[in-house]
Amino acid sequence: CGIIGILGKHEVAPLLVESLKRLEYRGYDSAGIATVNAGQLDRRRAVGKLVNLSDLLVHQPLAGRAGIGHTRWATHGAATTGNAHPHRSGPVAVVHNGIIENFRDLRAELAEAGITPETETDSETVALLTRMFMERGMGPHNAAVAALHKLEGAFALLWLFEGQDDLMIAARKGSPLAIGHGMGEMFVGSDAIALSPFTDRITYLAEGDYAFVTRAGVEIFDADGVQASRETTRIDLSA
Ligand code: GLU
Repeated sequence: CGIIGILGKHEVAPLLVESLKRLEYRGYDSAGIATVNAGQLDRRRAVGKLVNLSDLLVHQPLAGRAGIGHTRWATHGAATTGNAHPHRSGPVAVVHNGIIENFRDLRAELAEAGITPETETDSETVALLTRMFMERGMGPHNAAVAALHKLEGAFALLWLFEGQDDLMIAARKGSPLAIGHGMGEMFVGSDAIALSPFTDRITYLAEGDYAFVTRAGVEIFDADGVQASRETTRIDLSA
């Protein structure tokens, strides 16, 4: 139900949790984060309040300066640790807000390719599809966009990849998503409130947009894949 992503200069795990706390107002039943550290993708997830995730991170810390986080409000699949986001398949981690309406059809297609889901969620299909396209030889950018083109429904999505500590891919359709600009750091969040601890310079993705985010900046494309420029605004952090 809430999304945050950070390509930072410092350890991101505490920042991801701090930002997720700002999204608590949306309601949630579980939470999780994933990071890339020395190329390795890893994740931690916990059912219930964010304090459960923070407690887990005390015992099983997650290092890394690039990461994504999620608070889940379950729509498909029970509120279990296994169904919590980020979802992972091979080199791909994904967080998702919303509903992938055609996930049953997509699962059937994945089954034909020999790919079996590990969760009950609609969201996991995005990670599975992206992995499938990468196994067919696509790089992360093309694979994420190819997966995106297969999705029906309402979503905000954020991808993170093993071996890529300077890349997040974001997409929105029917759910808002905002890019936050730092100084040599970049952020993605469900709303400006999630980004307010980090920056007041925000670019809202337009309906159907997807974006390639690195620490150097963001490239935004519209639903037709045409590079687009979206206004960057300064938000009032005192509000
Ligand atoms: N439909 C997804 C799930 O049930 C995402 C729900 C959400 O927006 O948190 O896992």
